[in-house]
Amino acid sequence: MYPALRRQGKALPLALCAVCLALVVPAGCQPGPGLGRATEMPARTVFPDARPVLPAGETESVPGDADDPAVWVHPSDPARSLVIGTDKHAGLVTWDLDGHEVQRIASGEPNNVDVRYGFALGDRLVDIVAATNRWDNRMDVYRVDPGTRRLIEVSGRFAGSELEEVYGFCLYRSPGSGRFYAFVNDTHGDVEQWLLYPEDGRLSGRRVRAFAAGARTEGCVADDEQRQLYLGVEDRGIWRYGAEPDAGAEGTQVDVTGAHLVADVEGLTMYYGANGTGYLIASSQSSNDFAVYDRRPPNPYLGRFTIVAGNGIDAVSHTDGIDVSNLALGPRYAQGLFVAHDHADEIPRNNYKLVPWESVALAMAPALLVDPASWDPRSTRLATP
Ligand code: CA
Ligand code: CA
Ligand code: CA
Ligand code: CA
Ligand code: CA
Repeated sequence: MYPALRRQGKALPLALCAVCLALVVPAGCQPGPGLGRATEMPARTVFPDARPVLPAGETESVPGDADDPAVWVHPSDPARSLVIGTDKHAGLVTWDLDGHEVQRIASGEPNNVDVRYGFALGDRLVDIVAATNRWDNRMDVYRVDPGTRRLIEVSGRFAGSELEEVYGFCLYRSPGSGRFYAFVNDTHGDVEQWLLYPEDGRLSGRRVRAFAAGARTEGCVADDEQRQLYLGVEDRGIWRYGAEPDAGAEGTQVDVTGAHLVADVEGLTMYYGANGTGYLIASSQSSNDFAVYDRRPPNPYLGRFTIVAGNGIDAVSHTDGIDVSNLALGPRYAQGLFVAHDHADEIPRNNYKLVPWESVALAMAPALLVDPASWDPRSTRLATP
């Protein structure tokens, strides 16, 4: 099975299915009634050394095309935190930690979504949720009302972008200046950094940097302490750039497809520990698992895990976006939460799976850090803008 993994592509599924059935691998691989289950079968092919991890929850199914999640942490009652997910054909959806829908926003074609805390808007600090929207080639921005947990749109103007069609996206808050930025890319691999600022009670932005990654990009994540941007070049690998606007156009290769990643390289996320420790996690889409790297450059590869069926929840396959929080989020996720898009929930529907972080951490060998205390994304250690 392993060599076949290297032959990623559309022609693989039937061949992999036969191998999969012969070896009697995880439940998600078993054929079920209907064409839909057949579509899921090859999807449970993973690297043999990927550690199995059980999900503890899942969101309600998304009728359209789910892609990327973000976790919003409630400021005073973490059990009331939200999972926010894109439905690329409909809009943003938010769910509580039991996976029940809280809000649905018809907003066109949101692709990737991200969250930051403490943006000075008007006379208050607000939590912001932002998403690239392919429908109208812009970014939608919301603030979160912590009382109602509703997202309220505050999109302003975005000036100077030359992207033909916005696609992948992530947010960055500079630890030096306290300024907020968006990294926005398109399917040609053009990347722009936008400075975000308040204007007439709304959040606006303007381009302050642009560079070319050389091939189709999408997933990205910024390290808000170490001032790094990690960018997935879908069929090539992961690159690291400086995240400050004067960091230039030169990236450093972190990993390439073929070794630990099977294209597309999709979602990227960052687990923060103390003193720069922690992990960069990447969705290796066609091997249906997740590669883990040390957060500290040069970001050595540490191992991988896959989310198998269990606890009454189906396995995770063909993941696009992922997110992780180290914080204690209520009783079920008291040691942190990892969220992954699942391409096949109840086919053709898809959704997002919720995994206790310690399930990931303790499955790996050696075990990963479990540190719900060191990093607080609302930290006031940052300088004010
Ligand atoms: Ca995201
Ligand atoms: Ca993609
Ligand atoms: Ca995607
Ligand atoms: Ca599934
Ligand atoms: Ca399910």
